[in-house]
Amino acid sequence: MNQEQDTLQEGFFTTSVRAALNWGRKYSLFQYPFVTACCGMEYMSVSCAHHDVARFGAEVPRFTPRQSDLLWVVGTITHKNAPVLKRIYDQMCEPKWVIAFGVCASSGGFYDNYAAVPGIDHIIPVDVYLPGCPPRPEQVFDGLMMLQEKIQRGPMMLK
Ligand code: SF4
Repeated sequence: MNQEQDTLQEGFFTTSVRAALNWGRKYSLFQYPFVTACCGMEYMSVSCAHHDVARFGAEVPRFTPRQSDLLWVVGTITHKNAPVLKRIYDQMCEPKWVIAFGVCASSGGFYDNYAAVPGIDHIIPVDVYLPGCPPRPEQVFDGLMMLQEKIQRGPMMLK
């Protein structure tokens, strides 16, 4: 048996630089929590030992947007704080992703009034919407895994 046949029998592994980079990115998310309301309780629960978001490589919060690539928007967004959210998003480096945590961030929820933004996608792009008031931790992890799949698929640099 020659060397080529040996290699074929043992199997081989192929990938691309892009796939390898995206694999690294999806398991090393640096999150920026923008927490405004009661969904924050479930967000904290997700981060605690019982649920352990570290299993997904997304446990490290950065309290500056310049060092973050995952923006969690947790809670109700009003028209007054919308410009702040937009500025934080703009300060994050590419590539970056956004999760709308809970029905208020996703659609305004039951706050159908003059003060609440009817979904943060009126201000910034959103990658994953988490329904629920508030979403349970299992639901949050489901959304996080959806985001990881999206990151793995790419595109690598710009949205
Ligand atoms: S979705 Fe429910 S729990 Fe979350 S911020 Fe809105 S009202 Fe509060």
